[in-house]
Amino acid sequence: MSEESGREGRCSAVPRNSLSQYGCLMSYDAYSDTGFNTRAIHSGQEPDALTGAVAVPIYQTSTYKQDGVGGLRSGYEYSRSANPTRTALEESLAALEGGARGLAFASGLAAEDTVLRTLCKPGDHVLLPDDAYGGTFRLIARVLTRWGLEYTPVAMHSAAAVAEAIRPNTTVIWVETPTNPLLNIADIAALAELADQSRAKLVVDNTFASPYLQQPISLGADVVLHSTTKYLGGHSDVVGGAVVTAEAGIGDEIAFHQNAMGAISGPFDAWLVLRGIKTLGVRMDRHCQNAAAIVDFLTSHPAVGSVLYPGLPEHPNHEVAARQMSQFGGMVSFRLRGGEDAALKVCELARIFTLGESLGGVESLIEHPGRMTHMSVAGSPLEVPADLVRLSVGIENIEDLLADLTAALA
Ligand SMILES: *Cc1c(COP(=O)(O)O)cnc(C)c1O
Repeated sequence: MSEESGREGRCSAVPRNSLSQYGCLMSYDAYSDTGFNTRAIHSGQEPDALTGAVAVPIYQTSTYKQDGVGGLRSGYEYSRSANPTRTALEESLAALEGGARGLAFASGLAAEDTVLRTLCKPGDHVLLPDDAYGGTFRLIARVLTRWGLEYTPVAMHSAAAVAEAIRPNTTVIWVETPTNPLLNIADIAALAELADQSRAKLVVDNTFASPYLQQPISLGADVVLHSTTKYLGGHSDVVGGAVVTAEAGIGDEIAFHQNAMGAISGPFDAWLVLRGIKTLGVRMDRHCQNAAAIVDFLTSHPAVGSVLYPGLPEHPNHEVAARQMSQFGGMVSFRLRGGEDAALKVCELARIFTLGESLGGVESLIEHPGRMTHMSVAGSPLEVPADLVRLSVGIENIEDLLADLTAALA
């Protein structure tokens, strides 16, 4: 298991609070039968065995004392391979998504890169949504194509379009649902069936819904991925990524690549995400409640041409969303009758809605995808409408958010 020599072997799932030699045993989750909020607060986070500390300590260390050559005292040897704070987060993530293995990364894109390089080899083909997150599209189209990866953007909300686009060399079907920023909905269970019938793995980017609203593994996904920068972290104070696998085998392969490629979450970042996760349920309830009120307001506003939200009965895949999500989320997009100029004006006039990229934090954010988050897809098939505004609805008082939008739209 020597890290310096780069030999294989890695124990990221060693019980954090164990000081004895555990080898590579997975630690047992005593909370697996409890409800979501109980797991969010306790899974992977037993009080520290040595001190009783209730909050998981930030193990800010790169290496660990060994009891004789090759004799690990805690199972940990070097913090790229595993670190106790990161292990706590990884166990928490696996518990929340109902998967076999969780892994914490430096960013959502670091997680994506590692997953794609694990599941694919040069010459393989990937299907991705034709309205994928811009950074995902850029990673595949501009970085991984140089490594020999092939890709096709498809209308992922249509299972028929996906079935038609699958090739013999398709090894990954990459799904986002709801999508960013158009809030399209893909049918995870239907796509899982298509993946099963081919040799492809189904990867679901669950960033927009969070595991509180949607659990793709229970619907047949092989791998779930998050930008923990968003709802899981929840406070706009950390950049991170996560992967949870349905099966331990794929988890081990991705863990091997994570250690080999090095895109790990540091202990402090892991700790921030872990702290965010404890309040995920209460935050998501408020995000969803505020978003629903804002959707009501926007649908009857004369300056607004259309509202994109999976909770609306007229949303093209509302039925699918109602089946696979417990609530419809905190992201709302809308198009202005006045075109791009009107969209830019709303973004600049809003005050409580802070003009900024990213999403999923406690504070409300507003942005113009065409000129901000999705600039990298301008001129590609993934280009977004110029009159589109995206809101990440926060958990402030709803009256204040509505007053802010009323003024910005006037
Ligand atoms: C932000 C985001 C990512 C990328 O995550 P980073 O943490 O910024 O690297 C991937 N997918 C979706 C849906 C996102 O919103």
